[in-house]
Order: sequence, then structure tokens, then C-alpha cells
Amino acid sequence: MKMTIDMPFVNTCTVSGCGYNKDDKCHARAITIGDGVHPGCDTSFLGAPGHTRANNMAGVGACKVVGCSFNSDLECGADSITVSMQDDSIQCMTFQSR
Ligand code: SF4
Ligand code: SF4
Repeated sequence: MKMTIDMPFVNTCTVSGCGYNKDDKCHARAITIGDGVHPGCDTSFLGAPGHTRANNMAGVGACKVVGCSFNSDLECGADSITVSMQDDSIQCMTFQSR
């Protein structure tokens, strides 16, 4: 069974050490952002061998960062997001404080 779901997409991710990353794109099917406060990538898999089915473009399946202005009912309402390393942790750079 194939499902079609409307999700914000992960436009760019510069975390090259993640197993889902290839050429600054995330190729997981869907990712989860956040632990409740910090907009980290819960799906990251650093140091893993490449998963990278390069025809997948990742969507944001869920986001637990209720303090972000794009968050509604634990889902992301942005059109797309960018993920990168900041201060030694992986962050959703599209995060905007309410
Ligand atoms: S968005 Fe997350 S899962 Fe996707 S490549 Fe970046 S760190 Fe990995
Ligand atoms: S933009 Fe905000 S709501 Fe969307 S994934 Fe990033 S932190 Fe979560």
C-alpha cells in the first residue's frame, strides 16, 4: 500500500555524517524534529552506512517543538525546512520562537 501525505519537505540538510544524507539532501522518507524544547533532528543516524535511496525526498512527519511559531498541533506548518549543525548539535534552522 502506498500513502500520499502532504508534508513540509526537508529542502537542505548539511549534516553529511548522517546515514540519510547525500549531497546535502535528506533521503529518509520522513523525519521527526524535536524533543519538546530543542529543534534537533530525532531521525539522525550519525556514523551509519548510507541508506540514501536518492529518489526519496524527506518530509517532516512530526515536530515536538511546541515553542516554534510554525508548529500547530505537534506538526510543522512551514513549506519546507533546512537542517544543519549548530553549536555541535543538529538543528532545524527554520525554527522561529513564538
Ligand atoms: S534531516 Fe536528519 S535524518 Fe535527514 S539527513 Fe539531516 S540529520 Fe539525517
Ligand atoms: S520549522 Fe518549527 S515546527 Fe517546523 S520542524 Fe522546524 S522547529 Fe518544527
